[in-house]
Amino acid sequence: MTFQPLELVLISTPIGFLGSGKGGGVELTISSLVKGLLALNHKVTLVAPEGSFLPSGCSKAQVIHVSGVDQPSWQHRPLEAPVQIPCDGVLPKLISKALEVGRDADAVLNFGYDWLPVWLTSRVEVALFHLISMGNVSNAMKSEIEELFKYQKGRLAFHTYRQASDYSLSSQPIVLGNGFDLSNYNFQLDNTGPLGWAGRVAPEKGLEDAVSVASSLGDKLLVWGIIEDPEYASEIEKSCSEGIIEWRGFLKTNDFQKELGACRAFLNTPKWNEAYGNVVVEALACGVPVVAYDRGGPGELIIQGLTGFLVTPDDVNSMKKAVSQIVRINRKDCRSWVERSASHENFARSIVNWIKGDISIRRAYI
Ligand code: UDP
Repeated sequence: MTFQPLELVLISTPIGFLGSGKGGGVELTISSLVKGLLALNHKVTLVAPEGSFLPSGCSKAQVIHVSGVDQPSWQHRPLEAPVQIPCDGVLPKLISKALEVGRDADAVLNFGYDWLPVWLTSRVEVALFHLISMGNVSNAMKSEIEELFKYQKGRLAFHTYRQASDYSLSSQPIVLGNGFDLSNYNFQLDNTGPLGWAGRVAPEKGLEDAVSVASSLGDKLLVWGIIEDPEYASEIEKSCSEGIIEWRGFLKTNDFQKELGACRAFLNTPKWNEAYGNVVVEALACGVPVVAYDRGGPGELIIQGLTGFLVTPDDVNSMKKAVSQIVRINRKDCRSWVERSASHENFARSIVNWIKGDISIRRAYI
């Protein structure tokens, strides 16, 4: 069978430029996927906010920049909040550019968690697909996703089953996991380092619980990530003794993984139904075992007793006990799991199969 490369147009998140960290895990998902798709010889155009950049090794992808005001993030608005598009918003401009350049492409793949692109799917000729990056944080988004699923379920994919379970879907959804460029993560064997935590510093990420575990063990907790909510961060800082938290800032992947890999254990304490949990897999890729709440994506990523421990959500004492057992985990098993289950090449293949599956159905009807 001859290889048929796809021509794909990707729409980046409308929250911050790619590389800013404001978009959260979706930024790494996009960069890793572009690299994976190029390695498989597919043609990629990325439409992204001004300032966006792709990592090295992606020069074959075309990047089209669009300027405009960021979308407000849904997870920081009430569940019943209405759809909002700011004046001069970047979201409609990203979509309009992607629909224009994607007219002759095989598919346009949207990564922005927003109402407008989902609503447009059945109203445009272009084959518009969506990799949904969050669980349910908005009634407006939930009903639009459920509506699209009823008629064009092949246009939607999710990262994990737990994420997808937030939506009332009439049949099994497409679940694709995520992918990581493993050449960016070095395995580290030493298991005597500090504890680590990473993510956007915002209430849904539950940093306070990880701090409480570190405090009760008298351990240092290294914290990486963008401080989205400075008031919340300062409350946490006040709640513990000096020297427990070491704020490391938001680092580029290369520097992040070097520091991350030196940790003895990585703590993951989501208070929401985490869609996937990139940082969990990044820690494992460096050989760092993870202790996480059994909630959302991380519950599908960690193999109990092999790559870390899952504990009852919000149970700080159980987390503390699990951390004290962490030497039982073989760090090589953590890295091996990522190599088997979450490489960017495998993820790119899954994305291509998903898209090819649906466009072939569509072509059969045209
Ligand atoms: N991250 C980073 N540098 C840091 C800390 C975090 O690049 O110093 C990135 C990390 O690689 C991950 C993202 O921040 O891709 C957080 O994504 P995650 O899926 O864990 O959570 P989200 O922010 O999407 O809720």
